[in-house]
Amino acid sequence: MVNMLDAGHIWHEEAATQLLLSTAQPRIRFKKFTVNEEKEDGADWLWWWVDRDGTSYGLLVQAKILKRKGKRWSIDFTYKTKGDDRTQLSKLIRAANRFEVAAAYVLYCGDPEYRATLACDRTHGDALCKERDRVGVSTISALVAETAVSRYGKDSGVAAFHDAVPVEDIANPDSLDTPIVPLARGLAEDFDRFLRQPQTGSRRVAKELLRPVQQIRNGQFAGAAVMQRADPVSGAFFQDIPNDYGHFSVPYLTHMLRGLRADAPDYVRDVLEGRTPPAWVTDHVGGIVVIPDADAPSTTAGRIAGGVERLILLDSPDAPQPLRDHPGQVA
Ligand SMILES: [Zn+2]
Repeated sequence: MVNMLDAGHIWHEEAATQLLLSTAQPRIRFKKFTVNEEKEDGADWLWWWVDRDGTSYGLLVQAKILKRKGKRWSIDFTYKTKGDDRTQLSKLIRAANRFEVAAAYVLYCGDPEYRATLACDRTHGDALCKERDRVGVSTISALVAETAVSRYGKDSGVAAFHDAVPVEDIANPDSLDTPIVPLARGLAEDFDRFLRQPQTGSRRVAKELLRPVQQIRNGQFAGAAVMQRADPVSGAFFQDIPNDYGHFSVPYLTHMLRGLRADAPDYVRDVLEGRTPPAWVTDHVGGIVVIPDADAPSTTAGRIAGGVERLILLDSPDAPQPLRDHPGQVA
């Protein structure tokens, strides 16, 4: 991203994704498919975290750029193709149903210099929003984006960026996993424990993706949480969760958590074992990313400080080197 900016250009989503994935492998595995350009969901990628015991979490991911146009910052969540009334955002949420996972965005947000004029008046601990560490490659649930669009319209990009979590941090075993406070009481015991107790690996990823969604729900005046049980999703970890919508377009707990499974789907095993997944998968996604051993303990002692952005997905002994060092800024 920085190299393209230095050359006077904006980077491209697909190029950034290619660079991210090729830099993060072999720690992660990925397989790219040649998809029919006509397919509306063909640009999206499936991301799966797989723990050593098989526990897995899946996301359908669309890549977006935090764009600067004069003084305005935007992310084109509501892009529409000609002759189609549906927004890309609503199509992404719907497309995630095919794979029974949550829909999410990976946001490419450049470096602090690029974001210098971005104004967010909310705080993140003691860090300025635009100067937060590692936020150059971040992720948010599509439900967070949906809320940002309905609340902030043209300024939804800044709101979404504020809620975005650095990809490196979503399964970071060194960071604090504070309890998520549910709106409803009397939840099933396993689900209640998941919300309240620290998690690792795939469960942690699911929890970090859910966290801002639940925060949004807790702030909505949508009446008391619906406690009616959602239809259980076959293979999903939690079989008893409330069918609560809040102001979201879908029952948010089911949407966020159906991709948390006791075992990885067969098409994920295909990627791990070098086979090509079936056509119902390859025809509808640009590729699959698998993050194996998502529950592996961190081995890196120091964290990166000083607003340095690096393309390292997860701490591991064979973590790839950053593409480009920023001399004098590495703590
Ligand atoms: Zn912010």
